[in-house]
Amino acid sequence: MSTPDRTDEVIVDGDLLQAGDADYDDARRVFNTLYDRHPAAIARCASERDVVAALRYASRRGLAVSVRAGGHSAAGFSVADDAVVIDVRGLKAVTVDRFARRARVGAGLTWAELDAATQQFGLAVTGGRMSTTGVAGLTIGSGSGTGRSAAAAGTSASSPSSRSSSWS
Ligand SMILES: Cc1cc2nc3c(=O)[nH]c(=O)nc-3n(C[C@H](O)[C@H](O)[C@H](O)COP(=O)(O)OP(=O)(O)OC[C@H]3O[C@@H](n4cnc5c(N)ncnc54)[C@H](O)[C@@H]3O)c2cc1C
Repeated sequence: MSTPDRTDEVIVDGDLLQAGDADYDDARRVFNTLYDRHPAAIARCASERDVVAALRYASRRGLAVSVRAGGHSAAGFSVADDAVVIDVRGLKAVTVDRFARRARVGAGLTWAELDAATQQFGLAVTGGRMSTTGVAGLTIGSGSGTGRSAAAAGTSASSPSSRSSSWS
């Protein structure tokens, strides 16, 4: 399996895993255990420049990419065989503007992490009902839960929400 051979395709802040690496099996696992996929590489990105480097790595080798956030895609879209997984779980930035009642989140933030950030200001966000789902993933890939699919609409209610860490 190929490794980065140009500096602009090296994952600087995160890392690139391939079959045989210690964390590879753990990193390719997703919430829905129906999907047991073996990607060519998993780029665990911790910055925007990592994402750019991972895309260059995949593009130069003619490999497909998938994006993995919380990893809950019911269709298994976030991890694909022989592709490069752009794993954005390391992108955890979150800022809350309590006056505008608006949050800006990194691609890897989960609902539990967003709840923790907004609840400091007595704010709660409509979104999925499970705490480990990705905010971006649910917004893009849909979902249902507290306030239904209004996740993209941002903050609204004033009481803290509660989400589950397992389906019931
Ligand atoms: C058994 C099961 C039950 C479920 N029940 C519920 C439920 O009750 N309520 C609910 O809200 N949802 C439910 N879901 C669905 C889940 O919330 C959605 O699939 C959601 O899209 C998952 O987001 P994620 O970030 O965790 O998953 P991911 O799989 O990481 O991402 C979901 C999709 O978005 C894409 N994506 C993620 N981030 C980016 C990005 N930055 N750029 C481009 N594409 C991106 C991924 O490639 C993937 O296609 C359930 C899923 C499963 C498997």
